[in-house]
Amino acid sequence: MTIDRVRLTALIARERAAYEAAHPRSAELFRAAGHLFGRVPMTWMGKWSGGFPLYLDGAKGNRVTDVDGHEYVDFALGDTGAMAGHSPQPTVDALVERAGRLGGLTAMLPTADAEWVGAELSRRFGLPLWSFTLSATDANRWAIRLARLATGRSKILTFAYCYHGSVDESFALPGPDGEAVSRPGNVGAPVALSVTTRVAEFNDLRSVETQLAHGDVAAILTEPALTNIGIVLPEPEFLQGLRELATRYGALLMIDETHTISAGPGGATRLWNLRPDIFVIGKSIGGGIPCGAYGITDAVRQLVDAHADADLVDVGGVGGTLAGNALSTAAMRATLEHVLTDEAFTQMIALATDFTRGVQDTIDASGVGWSVSQLGARSEYRFVTPAPRTGSSSAAAGDEGLDEYLHLYLLNRGVLITPFHNMALMCPDTTKADVDLHTGLYAAAVNELVGR
Ligand code: PMP
Repeated sequence: MTIDRVRLTALIARERAAYEAAHPRSAELFRAAGHLFGRVPMTWMGKWSGGFPLYLDGAKGNRVTDVDGHEYVDFALGDTGAMAGHSPQPTVDALVERAGRLGGLTAMLPTADAEWVGAELSRRFGLPLWSFTLSATDANRWAIRLARLATGRSKILTFAYCYHGSVDESFALPGPDGEAVSRPGNVGAPVALSVTTRVAEFNDLRSVETQLAHGDVAAILTEPALTNIGIVLPEPEFLQGLRELATRYGALLMIDETHTISAGPGGATRLWNLRPDIFVIGKSIGGGIPCGAYGITDAVRQLVDAHADADLVDVGGVGGTLAGNALSTAAMRATLEHVLTDEAFTQMIALATDFTRGVQDTIDASGVGWSVSQLGARSEYRFVTPAPRTGSSSAAAGDEGLDEYLHLYLLNRGVLITPFHNMALMCPDTTKADVDLHTGLYAAAVNELVGR
């Protein structure tokens, strides 16, 4: 169905006016912020719909309160950083114990918690050896360096419209001759993307093999499903095919499960038996405290160890002073042990299934011709049907007007979804009533849009 753009523009204007009227304090703080680049602590925080972001007062479980006194049901959950819910009690208790009673925020010394977390990550994801970081971006960057060392090759194969944090190699699209070119808007690339990157389309093994055949790919870096350009689910044979191609062409398979841990307690890696050589995760596992991790197989360790001259401690550039600090490690242990448990996932996934069904019902009844995709505890709608099967086709289905309308419609009625796309994530505190609230509001928003 073609969306009536005149109607959409009028609806956005109405929702913007309501947003502005209901959030005077947030608006005032934003407009007064003269010492911040982009008026916000981090430039992407300006991306919330409505012209200015909500300012946070507090958050607990799946509820967020803003400085104007409104409470929201939060399905954005810090774009996965708060997948354990906001300030989960076991994590807070562990933080208070470490920061307060025991002390030792940054001492450059290991704690026993680290081995516990390493063992738990091995139980969940299978890889035997782990190293910690402060973000998923860093985990990706450092693991890429190890992949280059291990293989003696220079390039990373990524997929069009992937996202792995601010990793220079990953901002690539296929150019006219298949060589990697910079994504529009990419900032400060150190060298041309074709020097560092080979790029293929997700769900297209032929395009992967064409790139691997050059013989210069150190690692294939991918999420098991793309999650940053809507959810693009893998087709049945795709991930096993990637594994086989990586082995055949001497490249490592590097799986980034920062978002796709939504698939289950062992992420998609366990659910689909992915057998990566390198595994990356961040955001959720510390319950909101900065942390990340990468895991390697014993075979990768041996390849790395074969380079006796490699400096893995200092100028080799695979570490950070605060990485693996006692506070992050305590947070990871408490969150994995008590919050993001196997049982919690069962409940979260059931709720995401309800959420997805509710959205699908509205899509079917309204005839808008959209789609909704679910990966475990997360669900996302996209303005095209069938659901896109590559990053490029999903990018082409983006619609900023529809994003803004739906985000503001929901926000003005007490529901947050992630500002960057149309993602909703369940946490252990999400209830059926919260999902039903979204289902009803989504139906009302779409019905107003199509004039039903
Ligand atoms: N990997 C993936 C798959 C991500 O989605 C993100 C962030 N959205 C990152 C890595 C980077 O995470 P961070 O910004 O916390 O470093």
